[in-house]
Amino acid sequence: MNIHEYQAKQLFEKFGVASPKGIVASTAEEAGKAAREIGGPGLVVKAQVHAGGRGKGTFKNGFKGGVHVVDTPEQAEEIAGQMLGQTLVTHQTGPEGKLVSKVLIAKAVDITKEYYFAILFDRVSSNHAIIASTEGGMNIEEVAEKTPEKITKEFINPALGLQPYQCRKVAASLGLQGPLANQAVKLFSALWNLYLKADCSLVEINPLAITTDGQVVALDAKFNFDDNALYRQKDVTAMRDTTEEDPREVAASEFGLNYIGLDGNIACLVNGAGLAMSTMDIIKFHGGEPANFLDVGGGATKEQVTAAFKIILGDPKVEGILVNIFGGIMDCDIIANGIIAAAKEVSLTIPLVVRLEGNNVEAGKATLAASGLKITSASDLTDAAQKIVAAVKAA
Ligand code: GDP
Ligand code: MN
Repeated sequence: MNIHEYQAKQLFEKFGVASPKGIVASTAEEAGKAAREIGGPGLVVKAQVHAGGRGKGTFKNGFKGGVHVVDTPEQAEEIAGQMLGQTLVTHQTGPEGKLVSKVLIAKAVDITKEYYFAILFDRVSSNHAIIASTEGGMNIEEVAEKTPEKITKEFINPALGLQPYQCRKVAASLGLQGPLANQAVKLFSALWNLYLKADCSLVEINPLAITTDGQVVALDAKFNFDDNALYRQKDVTAMRDTTEEDPREVAASEFGLNYIGLDGNIACLVNGAGLAMSTMDIIKFHGGEPANFLDVGGGATKEQVTAAFKIILGDPKVEGILVNIFGGIMDCDIIANGIIAAAKEVSLTIPLVVRLEGNNVEAGKATLAASGLKITSASDLTDAAQKIVAAVKAA
């Protein structure tokens, strides 16, 4: 799960991470009011979308930049009016862009230097890690590729937590000394505390800025949270903005389905994440392109299978469906009934290949055969992949 920058600022405030004051606004008028409350000169207007690269982004109507530094509250109001209701395209949004329905008005600071600072979960080492760089405000993937020597990595042992000496080491690696180093150390440990307490899997500050009056402040924020810990993070869960998420993924999560939309045309409905991955692989192996990852879980109900079909068919790119179910916990006949109910309810017109295996498979196959629906049965994974790829090509 992600949150907006204005919400991240609320967390910063709660945990004592230094960041300029900001107020969120949904209309130009509100933005003007917020700007007057914060007071000029020097304000920044920032489009609130779940994507980075806003500064260099362009709105679909041609207006340039999702981050503007302005002088007066009147200018802030004017710029907010240009952004609100418009679609911002950045290198992270994809060509379809993201609709801006909120802007953040914040006190602008005068920057002397920008840094990159992040804490994230590092799967390879099973540690948390700090990633820091003197190349702030830039795309960190690009820095990692072109000038890897400018990136510092510091691992945090989960049992010990972030130690003060590690904070000082990272500050020194960024070339910070004296009072600046002290402020940075304080900010790093506050951010670590936040990362841990809020069950984050990523907090990224790009840029972490040094101001002309000698302050170290977080000027931007990107957060990822561990979805498995959301049950104990009520405040964080309340920040979820489903309008920013893929509507198919939102619908899937309502039914307890794991769905990720992809670019291909062959939809997959599978039980179990591992089987879902191998199904996608084998579709590709036989020359097809999967339209999604969809795991209905070990104990899917008829309602879940129907919901899954509807989500799949809501994607106009889908030209065929492959159902691959291994009846371990599940009874194949229940699945077969679910498929038939769903296919009838959504009046399926595209090719459907079903491969069932396991518990009560003979009854399941008989149910499918007796349904009178145009369903192609497959005997194994290879047969299933070949049949659906061929059916989609022929259609
Ligand atoms: P992003 O483009 O989505 O990553 O948005 P950021 O919040 O990082 O803003 C982009 C850039 O705008 C930053 O790298 C800064 O250079 C600049 N910026 C943001 N806030 C301020 C500010 O308060 N003062 C000044 N002078 N520049 C700012
Ligand atoms: Mn940024």
